[in-house]
Amino acid sequence: MPDVVVGLGANLGDPRQALAGAVRELQARYGEIQVASLYRSAPVGGPPQPPYLNSAVRLAAARGEPLAVLDACLAIEAAFGRTRSGVAHEPRTLDLDLWWFGGEEMETPRLTLPHPRAHQRRFVLLPWRELMPHVRLRGRSLDTWLDEVRGQPICRLEGPQWPWTH
Ligand code: ADP
Ligand code: MG
Repeated sequence: MPDVVVGLGANLGDPRQALAGAVRELQARYGEIQVASLYRSAPVGGPPQPPYLNSAVRLAAARGEPLAVLDACLAIEAAFGRTRSGVAHEPRTLDLDLWWFGGEEMETPRLTLPHPRAHQRRFVLLPWRELMPHVRLRGRSLDTWLDEVRGQPICRLEGPQWPWTH
């Protein structure tokens, strides 16, 4: 079974509720999952917008093809009110990105793996390191990539139990 990591982000509406709902939806579809801590991060690029909440989920037993997982992510986003105006990096009620699918590499119009910007984002690398501390991304450890993005503001708000509290 491939190790699959999905990143969660939101900065409109009720981001915490959307992220917790997405975790529950992924668990309903894929069963065994592992959740990272909850973080708050500053937006990277795009128009002025509120800070993001971020986390990530490891699907320890993901079935199917990468595109099927992407489609599940897009369906969950839509269920939580995600709209797209076409502006890059616009604010969103829920964003689910497929960061990693068992080390598969692909570049198609709909899906690039590993996620093309994952190694440049502290809000990706910190939660991902919790889930897969020894993974090598583009030939380097997550710690090594993290050294390069030390300036990106982010703070850890709650531990990995966050979706199951409140
Ligand atoms: P972003 O997440 O980059 O801010 P969107 O969420 O609007 O932007 O995604 C736009 C498109 O990116 C998706 O419809 C999807 O087809 C494509 N895409 C390519 N690779 C990936 C990936 N690894 N994870 C998620 N989406 C991806
Ligand atoms: Mg996305």
